[in-house]
Amino acid sequence: MNAQTAYVGRFAPSPTGPLHAGSIVAALASWLDARAHHGRWLVRIEDIDTPRVQAGAADAILDTLQQLGLAWDDRPSWQSQRLEAYADAMNSLIRCGLAYPCGCTRSEIADSQRSVATGVGGQAVRGVEHAYPGICRNGLAPGRIARSWRLRLPDQAMVQFDDRWQGRQQQDVANDVGDFVLKRADGLFAYQLAVVVDDGAQGITDVIRGADLLGSTARQRLLGRALGLADLRYMHVPVVLADDGEKLSKQNGAIAVDTRRPVEVLDQAFRHLGFGPSAESSLDAWLADATRRWAEFRSA
Ligand code: GLU
Repeated sequence: MNAQTAYVGRFAPSPTGPLHAGSIVAALASWLDARAHHGRWLVRIEDIDTPRVQAGAADAILDTLQQLGLAWDDRPSWQSQRLEAYADAMNSLIRCGLAYPCGCTRSEIADSQRSVATGVGGQAVRGVEHAYPGICRNGLAPGRIARSWRLRLPDQAMVQFDDRWQGRQQQDVANDVGDFVLKRADGLFAYQLAVVVDDGAQGITDVIRGADLLGSTARQRLLGRALGLADLRYMHVPVVLADDGEKLSKQNGAIAVDTRRPVEVLDQAFRHLGFGPSAESSLDAWLADATRRWAEFRSA
């Protein structure tokens, strides 16, 4: 962040369920960092993936943040109300030749990779994401119809950045991911497009979120540059794991946090971020103490 740019942070939950212990860690870290920098903290409801949205979850999330004292600046924004902005961004990429239609299905991509790797008849590996091999990059083959839209990666797609928690990161996006989807085959705008367009439009300077999203960051940096947006600073905080060793989520039994004891909920999240317990028992005093301690140890 350059000294002239005022800090703007954000918390961007997907309303697929209530906030659980893992999402509170991300919310708290980004709130503390914004407050420690005397910046603004925005909340954005990422309800773009409509089949995964759960009725009532967005209101429950906002309610939980309020009860934990994690106050936001401005009104929360909703991705479902921003479709025009995503369409504009898509159109500008298409006009510059940076987005192209793709007719491939997932299984076609997997098949093409398998025959390259093992010869026809090789075994598919379940659960492995295949880098898109660029089949439709130079135009749709005759008779094929467009299903999705992809970003045309630049020749040099090696991205490096310093993550404030995880350290120096590097990813060769062309090799690991390939031209990635901006608009999905079901007609919905992809998370990668929506998040980059919104971070740009809201003037976000600092993204603090769970380490499960570290692997999306290089893509987002490339897309941001393609859209002429400024680079952001990132901090990916450790995720909370469930008993099965996976990231805590609705699928492995994460429960909504109990906001009747907000200080306990926050203390637990703060411990996960490496801080010892606070002596403060009132919510306002706890938040002020945590902000001071965060500023001392983490805000550089
Ligand atoms: N909406 C995403 C999620 O809840 C987070 C997006 C982000 O912070 O960039 O996992």
